[in-house]
Amino acid sequence: MLVFTILLAWVQVGNQDFISKFQNLLENYSLPSSKMAIVIFGSLGTFLTVVALNNSFLVFLHLFVPITIFSFIFYYLFFQFNNRLSNKETYSKSNFLKEKESILKQKCSIDPNRKQEIFNVLKEHYPKFLSSRKKHLKTLKDKQIDYCKPAWFAVAPTKSVLNSRLILGFQNNGCSYRGKDGIGCYFCGFYASVAFKKKPTNDELFEQFNKVLDKVHTNEFDVLEFGNDGSFLCDKEFQASFRKSIYARISAELNIKRLLIESRLEFITEEKIAKIIEYFRQDQKLEIGIGLESRNDFVREVCLNKGIKINKFENKIKTLSKF
Ligand code: SF4
Repeated sequence: MLVFTILLAWVQVGNQDFISKFQNLLENYSLPSSKMAIVIFGSLGTFLTVVALNNSFLVFLHLFVPITIFSFIFYYLFFQFNNRLSNKETYSKSNFLKEKESILKQKCSIDPNRKQEIFNVLKEHYPKFLSSRKKHLKTLKDKQIDYCKPAWFAVAPTKSVLNSRLILGFQNNGCSYRGKDGIGCYFCGFYASVAFKKKPTNDELFEQFNKVLDKVHTNEFDVLEFGNDGSFLCDKEFQASFRKSIYARISAELNIKRLLIESRLEFITEEKIAKIIEYFRQDQKLEIGIGLESRNDFVREVCLNKGIKINKFENKIKTLSKF
């Protein structure tokens, strides 16, 4: 008993390395270590008290083991349930740390100490960042939104025959990548200008497009850009049927020579590109913007949270070059 108590005290106060390994182990199973530690040490406390009162080793078998096992099961179930209730898309802290930590170990031009320093700041501030972003998103849900009006639009200079392009940001349900942890790319503030209460219907989205065309002179620009939050080629954001009706209108009625869309890598497929080209006239071109942000994995994934693997990016470029 004495040995056990000393060992416990050593673990608690003396051996930080052991404690952090223990925390990592718990985090690997998606269990918040501080709360789990309360359960474990609470059970131990109960056991030690009962042993002191009864002075019997049998109590260990009869009380401590069931209490500990029950605490583990109860806490695990409670945590899972609570987690599901609070946010179905909660990005598990353990995954987050594992992903970022593996990048930390890769060699690159940035000094390893500096990388560790940045990683520590991220580790410390990420939960606060996550909760403040979630609070902000909740306040945005109360915004009154007219789903038939675009989030924004502008006619801006560009390199083309008419030197002008129309940029349109749809009032939509926002970037699907943000859904992973409620944050998405750390630097992105687009989320603040899009709809949250519901997904606009195809008709509402098309109405947004028509409203903008009614307000501008269609012969003033020959480039059209969809500069909204997220990915134009993501089916959850813009359904395939909606995209087709847009391509059909551009090809049949508008003097557009170039269409610019933005999309995350994972939504760009040969099939989708072929579909656009099938609709387009001979004099129309497609341009796709993909935000890579940095070639350095550490900068891209740890500092910016871009969620794009460089080899996937290069493969996608090869695929696109076929067209
Ligand atoms: S993928 Fe684009 S829209 Fe989505 S969070 Fe990142 S920068 Fe913002």
